[in-house]
Amino acid sequence: MILRPPPQERVPRLRKHLSADALYQLVRLGCEKIPDHRGRKCPISLTDALMSAFGMFSLKDPSLLAFEERRNDKNMGNLFGIAHVPSDTHMREILDPVEPRQLRPLFDDVFRQLQRGKALESFVFYQGHYLLSLDGTGYFSSSSIHCDSCLEKVHKQTGEITYQHQMLAAVMMHPDHREVVPLAPEPIEKQDGSEKNDCERNAAKRLLRQIRQEHPHLKLIVVEDGLASNAPHIRELQNQDMHFILGAKPGDHPFLFEQVLAAFEADRVTTISWTEEGVLCEISFINGVPLNESNQDLRVNFLQYGEYGPNGEQRTWTWVTDLEISRQNARWLVKGGRCRWKIENETFNTLKNQGYHFEHNYGHGKKNLSVVFAMLMMLAFLVDQVQQLCCPLFQATWKKMGTKRALWDNLRSHFRHFVFRSMRHLYQVMLYDLAKKLLAPTLNTC
Ligand SMILES: [Zn+2]
Repeated sequence: MILRPPPQERVPRLRKHLSADALYQLVRLGCEKIPDHRGRKCPISLTDALMSAFGMFSLKDPSLLAFEERRNDKNMGNLFGIAHVPSDTHMREILDPVEPRQLRPLFDDVFRQLQRGKALESFVFYQGHYLLSLDGTGYFSSSSIHCDSCLEKVHKQTGEITYQHQMLAAVMMHPDHREVVPLAPEPIEKQDGSEKNDCERNAAKRLLRQIRQEHPHLKLIVVEDGLASNAPHIRELQNQDMHFILGAKPGDHPFLFEQVLAAFEADRVTTISWTEEGVLCEISFINGVPLNESNQDLRVNFLQYGEYGPNGEQRTWTWVTDLEISRQNARWLVKGGRCRWKIENETFNTLKNQGYHFEHNYGHGKKNLSVVFAMLMMLAFLVDQVQQLCCPLFQATWKKMGTKRALWDNLRSHFRHFVFRSMRHLYQVMLYDLAKKLLAPTLNTC
């Protein structure tokens, strides 16, 4: 049953290139450029298989089995441009050999659309630079299911092996925005031909190089936790022409903190303080201190922020940065350092707890399937974030539904019961309750 959309003047205006329909089409065009590893014409194309997985994550289906019900659903063709939806087994077979790095351009395509629509202008954080937060997270762990790229963790006492998958995410963010813009993540996995486990640091090196290759002129300030404030990583950031604000803990940097303490005593540290709702807030900073004893040539600027409550409670954060700190910019740089939590809260927690089923095993495969699924889910999340940021129709529908979970539930139920011409059509029907109005007389006669 096709529902009639409301008159056009009532519909919130769309930024055409940043609407769900335009973005789904963009993703589809990107998928078409990925060569089919089967090297022959098959009844179900690689593009259809990739778009089916992308569609499954866009609809937030809880399992591949639930998605299978959509095999004959006209909406899969109308909204995602899919000619043939594969069965669950077939989808896993087609996607397992796909190289995850072949999916990276799909993220770039969406990112460039954001640039083109000038939607990133409000993300500029400092002197034309964007904040990019990097952090790793795990999404799969099993003692039995495993593939060629699984990380292997051996229990010291029992010798039992746990197989894991992790990824390093890179997410653009801004203190004033709830939305985040993920770039293509880097899998932390066993590298081709290697028996050794990968680690977050190696993945970071690969990821930073790829980002620089994909975005040669993008001005970036990389924000990371205390694990990243080591000399080799900082030199890698410098090589890639990226600025940084990195967490720094006294336990990891005894020499640095000794230097800062000495500077405090010599009155060489600048301090700014103010009070907010009875809490004393204080920033201390000093420029040009050596990072550690063995890398004295590597000078960093030290930034500390503390909150001291009336009853003795206190919280402090410390960072090292290559940005020259001044009385004018210190508070803003603290905001930049503190907004790192967004990669945890607004990205990983959303993926794990807001309907995306990030930790569900949709299928593991023998080669890359687990990583391919994780990347396509991140891509679906990116497209959703763009809509949340730029699409008034999406924003209005979300507001009406109240929560993201209610939005996705409603979307799935509309998708199941009606036929839509486009995502725009679907959101309009949800926003103006057109389905309910249509069903009301029928229900009244029951
Ligand atoms: Zn695996």
